[in-house]
Amino acid sequence: MVLAREPLKPSPSRLQRLFGRWWRQQSPARQDRFATIGPLVSVLMFLAAITAAFWYLRSEEIDRATDALRRDTEVAQQQIRLHLIENQEQLVRIARELVTKDIDTAEFLSQAGAFQRERPEVRHFTWVNAQRKVRASQAVLSFHPEEGSGAAMADPSLPAEGRRNEAEYAFIAARDTRQPVYSRPFTDASGLWVFQVQIPLIDRSNFVGTLIVEYSVEALVRFFVPTEVTRRHLVSVLGPDSRVLVSTVSSMPGQPATAPSLQYDLPLAPMSNGLTLRGQGYRTSIGLIGNTLFWMVVALSVLTVWMLLGTWRHMRRRAQIQNALVQETNFRRAMENSMLTGMRAMDKDGRVTYVNPAFCAMTGFAEADLIGRYPPFPYWPPDRIEENTRLLQQELQGRSPVGGIEVKVMRKDGSLFDARMYVSPLIDPKGQQTGWMTSITNITEAKRIRDQLSASHERFTTVLEGLDAAVSVLSVQHSELLFANRSYRLWFGADARGHAILANSSNGAPYLPEPDEEVDGLSGLPTQPLTETGAQPREVFVESLQMWFDVRARYLQWTDGRLAQMLIATDITARRRVEEQAQQQAEKAQVTSRLITMGEMASSVAHELNQPLAAINNYCNGMVSRVRAGSIGTDDLIAVLQKTGRQAERAGQIIHRIRSFVKRSEPQRQPAHARDIVEDAVELAGIELRRRKVNIHTYVAQRLPMLNVDPILIEQVLLNLLKNAAEAIDTAKMPNSRRHIELRVVPRHTPEEGGVIEFSVTDMGPGMKEEVLARLYEAFFSTKAEGMGIGLSLCRSIVESHRGRIRAQNIYNGGSVTGCRFAFTLPVDLSQRAEAHPVPDTVPDVAAASNPNASAS
Ligand code: ADP
Repeated sequence: MVLAREPLKPSPSRLQRLFGRWWRQQSPARQDRFATIGPLVSVLMFLAAITAAFWYLRSEEIDRATDALRRDTEVAQQQIRLHLIENQEQLVRIARELVTKDIDTAEFLSQAGAFQRERPEVRHFTWVNAQRKVRASQAVLSFHPEEGSGAAMADPSLPAEGRRNEAEYAFIAARDTRQPVYSRPFTDASGLWVFQVQIPLIDRSNFVGTLIVEYSVEALVRFFVPTEVTRRHLVSVLGPDSRVLVSTVSSMPGQPATAPSLQYDLPLAPMSNGLTLRGQGYRTSIGLIGNTLFWMVVALSVLTVWMLLGTWRHMRRRAQIQNALVQETNFRRAMENSMLTGMRAMDKDGRVTYVNPAFCAMTGFAEADLIGRYPPFPYWPPDRIEENTRLLQQELQGRSPVGGIEVKVMRKDGSLFDARMYVSPLIDPKGQQTGWMTSITNITEAKRIRDQLSASHERFTTVLEGLDAAVSVLSVQHSELLFANRSYRLWFGADARGHAILANSSNGAPYLPEPDEEVDGLSGLPTQPLTETGAQPREVFVESLQMWFDVRARYLQWTDGRLAQMLIATDITARRRVEEQAQQQAEKAQVTSRLITMGEMASSVAHELNQPLAAINNYCNGMVSRVRAGSIGTDDLIAVLQKTGRQAERAGQIIHRIRSFVKRSEPQRQPAHARDIVEDAVELAGIELRRRKVNIHTYVAQRLPMLNVDPILIEQVLLNLLKNAAEAIDTAKMPNSRRHIELRVVPRHTPEEGGVIEFSVTDMGPGMKEEVLARLYEAFFSTKAEGMGIGLSLCRSIVESHRGRIRAQNIYNGGSVTGCRFAFTLPVDLSQRAEAHPVPDTVPDVAAASNPNASAS
């Protein structure tokens, strides 16, 4: 508040100093309240004082009026009383004369006439005897009956024996007390309020009558109350029942008499007769004027209070506005101080009028160093003064570019930094331009970051461009090529077609590896794991280029937030060629191995063939000799020829089987029955087994599921195992009891492999030593003199290429080895998908090869 902030003027008075200190201790809000309540309280106090003064004056006035009234009433009473007493004395004298001098009626009447003439208040002057008989009477009214009149009986002014009127009471009282008696007021015959005084007539202590004087109440008041009293006050006479009998002011008929505020009562007569003299005062005009003044003061005070309240409200509103203003100012100041942008204001001549703390911090100059300075400013680098002067002129003319100007600024310590300057006009409240406001930001850091960014971008592009792999990014929604590196452009050009080919989709839509699971089909947007997965490498052959690519896809959010698919296609043509060659070689090796097997079995085969051939020879020789001897009939001849034919057929079958076994053919998978494969293999192995005198027992489980394999290769595996077993038994010269092999084919279900068919060859030979077991599948590892050592290695690659496993183990009977068992499995529960994506037949599956179970087997 302005009030609160203004320091109080130093005052010499101790009280003022104390007040000043107390005032400063109050909070601004309290000061405000006091400043508002103070005048209000003083106005109320003023009003109270005025009221008190008026009240005091009024009571003073009332006192004064009461005094005057009392005085006036007393004066009036005094006057009347004095008169009555004087009259009474005169009457007593007349009464005495009446008794002593024996005055006759005529003389009495003349005396009465004289008496009455001087006293207008007297209505009747009557002399009555002890019997109440009127001796003489002098009355104001001429029509009053004279003495002895019969009508006197009804006159209320005369006492009458037994009548209950005031005259009679007074008569009796005067007779009894022998003192003058005043009667109670009553209305006389003409209706006027009157009262009597009766003076007893005592003749030598005998009561002889009374002198009756009747006073008119009205006349008493009229003649004896001084006019100055009646002018000031209302004087009235009240009867015993407080009825107003006579008043100096008569009220207007129909209007109720205004209640007097003051009144004073005194008994009227010298003796109590029930008449009261009442003086009444009315408020004077001074009171009325005082009231007007009072009410004016009240009205003015109310007006002042009302205006003060209005001022208070106004001040409150002002205070609120001021608070808001202070808050706004503080907010702006805080903003200005916390801001990193430097602000500088200039008037139209280029004089610095304001700098903010950020500007000072930025340049290192203090505010005092800058305010009021004209160009050249201290933060201008000395070698750029000319340029800066030109920029300043441009600025003062309002031609600064909207996007800001880049300048070099010198700090106080002489170091330089890059800054960007924006200029806007300064407008005063009247809307007139008073200068220019310049904001300055230090862009050294931003510039450095920008440079770094562009350098890193350059490095990044160089790396990407230099990559042998084609990198491309395609917007998922719009199929628009967002990025392509040099290799991509080289191979596929600048459009998205190459990306589409690599993504394995002809229409250019991005390749989604598992559309059902990974992508929300409704929105087309990927779920979170999409970006993590989808990097499964795929090998894609691009026909137009005759090249193989290893393609890795990944979803990412592009710089503008769009979902995009990135493909990295690495040229693997060379590797594919090598792999193809290796596969061809492996195939050749298999064929070679089969040839070798046959070569090894050559003597057995020769022996096997020898039998039918020898039989044929025998039959032929027999027939020749019998034909020559002519000792053979047609039927016999036919029978012999049939036998010969069968033998030739058998030899042919052997040769056919061998031929079909060794015949070089492309590996080919087809649905095959395990039983057929086993039969063929046993047939071939039988030649060797028979030669080595080894028995075989074959067991093939019923209702085996179909296999999807290359039967020749599986036959080759089986033949190898059977041959090895027979060789081991024969070489170890096993007794007849152990010259035995068992071949079993059974379905199996294992947790790791699922449903498989297991082929096992168990012999009763010598078994294998540890070191042989460890190196069993090594190529060219053999314990035999003429062994090539490639049989089992081929067996394993064939089995594994069919996603099967092969394992070998010795069979123990207690501590001694009683033989060994070779078993391999082939999966049967192949899903459709597995068929749709066949693995290369002869190339070992990487996953299978690295399987610890497989290598330990
Ligand atoms: P080769 O038969 O030409 O030696 P293989 O790879 O078929 O090559 O066999 C490797 C070695 O494994 C054999 O030399 C032999 O020592 C051993 N072996 C294979 N089968 C058996 C078996 N049933 N009993 C004992 N040893 C065996």
